Amino acid sequence: MNIILVGPPGGGKGTQATIIKDKLKIAHISTGDMLREHIKNESDLGKEANEYIKRGDLVPDSLIISMIEERLKDKDCENGVLLDGFPRTLAQAIALDELFSKATKTLNAVINLIVDDEALVKRLLSRGRADDNEETIRNRLVVFKSQTSPIIEHYKKAGKVFDINGSGDIEAISGDIFKVLGQ
Ligand code: AMP
Repeated sequence: MNIILVGPPGGGKGTQATIIKDKLKIAHISTGDMLREHIKNESDLGKEANEYIKRGDLVPDSLIISMIEERLKDKDCENGVLLDGFPRTLAQAIALDELFSKATKTLNAVINLIVDDEALVKRLLSRGRADDNEETIRNRLVVFKSQTSPIIEHYKKAGKVFDINGSGDIEAISGDIFKVLGQ
């Protein structure tokens, strides 16, 4: 099963991703985690990406798309993938459609976690990550609305989107996700 998890920053994507990949036994691919690993290792990609991440801006599509293209070739992706934090722009979504079609993979579902802004800021401020200061958070929310929301429309046209209320109890939310996935 190949799934995309979409949701605003601080919307609980990471928490739900862990639960989903454990149950479905598919590879969890978080571009945010991959980028943070590059930053930790001080790779060239990490250094470049960090300039964007610390401002709350998106890392350029070309860097992200080639990183994902390589990752999707790994053996653990054969069983299915859970994409967390990717795609984040329409260009990334279109590139992913092509990568899937080349690899004869099918996209089964786009899980769209919906959480109101108030709860997001509160959660992000309590998380304390390097890119979780108030100014960056505000920018990440703006970027999500302007650049990431359009991918929902793209996948709605393909009938793949399931809206999930992302506020409230963690287990209730994963229960709702498994229900729409037929699991
Ligand atoms: P996340 O952990 O998914 O919230 O990602 C943290 C930061 O990494 C984001 O604010 C972006 O700067 C960058 N990032 C992660 N995934 C992507 C992506 N698919 N496209 C562009 N930038 C990304």
